[in-house]
Amino acid sequence: MINCRHLRRIPLLCVAAFFAILCGCSAFSGAGSASGSQKQTAELFAMDTVMELTVYGDPAVLKSAEDIITGLEHKLSVTDENSEIYRLNRDKQADVSEDTLELIGFAKDICERTDGALDITVYPIVKAWGFTTGEYRIPSADELQKLLETADYKKLQINSSTVAIPDDSMVDLGSVAKGYTGDRLIGHFRANGITSAIVSLGGNVQTLGSKPDGSPWRVGIADPFGGEYAGALSVRDKCVITSGSYQRFFEENGVRYHHIIDPSTGSPAAGGFVSVTVVGDKGVLCDALSTALFVMGKDRAFDFCASAGDFDALFIDEDGRIYITAGIADDFTPSGNYKDAGNTVIGH
Ligand code: ADP
Ligand code: MG
Repeated sequence: MINCRHLRRIPLLCVAAFFAILCGCSAFSGAGSASGSQKQTAELFAMDTVMELTVYGDPAVLKSAEDIITGLEHKLSVTDENSEIYRLNRDKQADVSEDTLELIGFAKDICERTDGALDITVYPIVKAWGFTTGEYRIPSADELQKLLETADYKKLQINSSTVAIPDDSMVDLGSVAKGYTGDRLIGHFRANGITSAIVSLGGNVQTLGSKPDGSPWRVGIADPFGGEYAGALSVRDKCVITSGSYQRFFEENGVRYHHIIDPSTGSPAAGGFVSVTVVGDKGVLCDALSTALFVMGKDRAFDFCASAGDFDALFIDEDGRIYITAGIADDFTPSGNYKDAGNTVIGH
């Protein structure tokens, strides 16, 4: 068995480096030079991923931004024994903070909207595959059948500030936590008078305004097949959030098992995608939908995009073809092999 967990960081660092180059920035230097509208940067490891924060303005906002990240991680982590989610999973009922309440409520709505493609109670299955610990294994069909009975977001109850789940259920906010965190960071920057910022929380890039010279941010979309990039997307004031089967996986007997679980089968989603990027105004929505659309697979995901009006999306399928919604088709520049792959624009 090949343990590929560490590979997750490579594309993430590449994304950061890519937008540094495209933004015409010098190397990331760590927060702390002069204030004004100068570039300030910070890098940290949190929520199991490398995070890069860049703002143009007062360096003090980066310090408080790091506190926001660590504060949210301590509430939302599924493995930290002192977190609210850990307490909920252990005691099956917990009084939680406003952040956790808001995020669980929002995520539950998206579970409903996506008809269970997103299901934040899929955690016992994620655990059985070893994606939480890195001790990977393939659960038996019997085991999966039993675990499937535990996964049902409809049984999660929210009463005032108390969340309750059935005895055999467990909640995991891994599919939405980074998007929520990004929203909090952008809100924090805005509240502190920053008009130009970009954060990369793993595969999640969120931008505030445009580059200081007024031109759009250019965000690299990782190539799931190991090349440098599939292309670049020009955005202003948008979130660009990717879920991919290349981000966390293991291989056994030549078969790849990745970390995005189809809650209807209990196995890694096999709907034909290797990467799904969602672009929109709200990070938590884009994060939730990138996971859900990946699970839905081609037909269902394209129909979902056609009937929704609150996001755009870029899909890369197993054959290396790109499908992109009309709202961002003109903002995407393919690179490498993707230049001649013939992108398909799908309706909105
Ligand atoms: P990443 O966290 O790698 O950026 P995602 O946002 O797609 O990727 O979230 C994947 C994580 O969400 C998994 O590691 C797992 O913890 C959890 N998860 C996997 N499948 C589902 C699902 N169908 N619904 C909700 N959460 C899921
Ligand atoms: Mg997600």
